[in-house]
Amino acid sequence: MTTRSPVWHPFHQHGLGEAIPLVDRADGALLYTSDGREVVDAISSWWVTTHGHNHPRIVSAIQEQAAKLDQLIFAGWTHQPAEDLARGLRAIMPRELEYVFYSDSGSTAVEVALKMALGFWANIGEPRDRIIVMEHSYHGDTIGTMSVGERGVFNRAYSPLLFDVETVPFPQEGSEQATLDALEAACKAGDAAAFIVEPLVLGAGGMLMYSAGTLREMRAICTRHDVLFIADEVMTGWGRTGALLACEHAGVVPDILCLAKGLTGGLMPLAVTMASAPIYDAHYSTDRSKLFFHSSSFTANPIACAAANANLAIWREEPVLERVAALAEREAQGFARIAQRHPITNMRQSGSIIAMDVDVPETGYLADIGLKMREGLFARDILLRPLGKTLYLMPPYCLTDAQLDRIMTAIDETLTDVL
Ligand SMILES: *Cc1c(COP(=O)(O)O)cnc(C)c1O
Repeated sequence: MTTRSPVWHPFHQHGLGEAIPLVDRADGALLYTSDGREVVDAISSWWVTTHGHNHPRIVSAIQEQAAKLDQLIFAGWTHQPAEDLARGLRAIMPRELEYVFYSDSGSTAVEVALKMALGFWANIGEPRDRIIVMEHSYHGDTIGTMSVGERGVFNRAYSPLLFDVETVPFPQEGSEQATLDALEAACKAGDAAAFIVEPLVLGAGGMLMYSAGTLREMRAICTRHDVLFIADEVMTGWGRTGALLACEHAGVVPDILCLAKGLTGGLMPLAVTMASAPIYDAHYSTDRSKLFFHSSSFTANPIACAAANANLAIWREEPVLERVAALAEREAQGFARIAQRHPITNMRQSGSIIAMDVDVPETGYLADIGLKMREGLFARDILLRPLGKTLYLMPPYCLTDAQLDRIMTAIDETLTDVL
């Protein structure tokens, strides 16, 4: 008899009795379970693993740093891995983003961005507190990040605690002007502190994609009305869309940039919020009440920073974007074949992120079809987590042709079963 595990899993309904695989080790795009299965990780362990699991360069950087300096208070103290990482980020990120603030996750990177934006307006003596957001956005699961994200079944129970925001419609192809008009109106209202947006791809909202031209227009509107532009590149950063940042496709530089997931290559939890000089300068003073009031115990953990430095070295020395481009092409070919054989709509792609909707009447994240597909795919040793009827891939960049073929065969068979 097995006893029930005391572990309470995230985004998991334990009451359904779904099997929970126990994973012993990983290598590249593969996960090895304790019962001897070899599973292809086609969603990069929830969008974090960029180059591949257990990348040897990052693993050894972690080992070396752990033996040297494990953890350090970061309020008023510093260490070389954090200094190197901030300079390394400055060298590859847009030059306007001069300052690097560390935290631990995508959610905290966004919380920090929101606090920086309000702190900026408060410290320059023009308090503004309205945040503009885009419909269907996801920015995390803390109270603040849920407030700026899509409201729905995910946060209904907590809605009394969420603060009010101004929401602009998602820029559906053909009706982008409605989004731009709504953004312009919200910016003109005068109390808007910032607009926060996922550039080009709304991830958890259903892998919804919009054009670089719209992103550029939205940036221009914010600039025109002095509203801070926050880019949440927690998912889209680190090559996912075929460029280091999704913002690059639009030639856009945000005032504040959030990065996490792939920052360490996905091996350690670490996040940064990068800010332009005016944001930092508004907090720079001899007045202690103007300092930036945010810290967490593990801010800039040295081991995590060492992992991120190794990730930056990989970006400097290896053809990462070429790898992403080749992967994207193979994904497109595979999905085109699937679309010929099954009822599929809304095929869309941005670099290594490719998505399609299964043509069924059900909608929403909790649509049964999503769970059925997930189970069918897992039975075929593929880790995928459809968002309702949206089936998407976001694999590590090391995915081999044979592994991609395994994914496509499993999708083909699973769709035949469930439809
Ligand atoms: C995952 C995600 C977050 C939250 O990151 P966590 O590390 O899970 O807290 C925020 N924004 C976007 C766009 C994300 O995809």
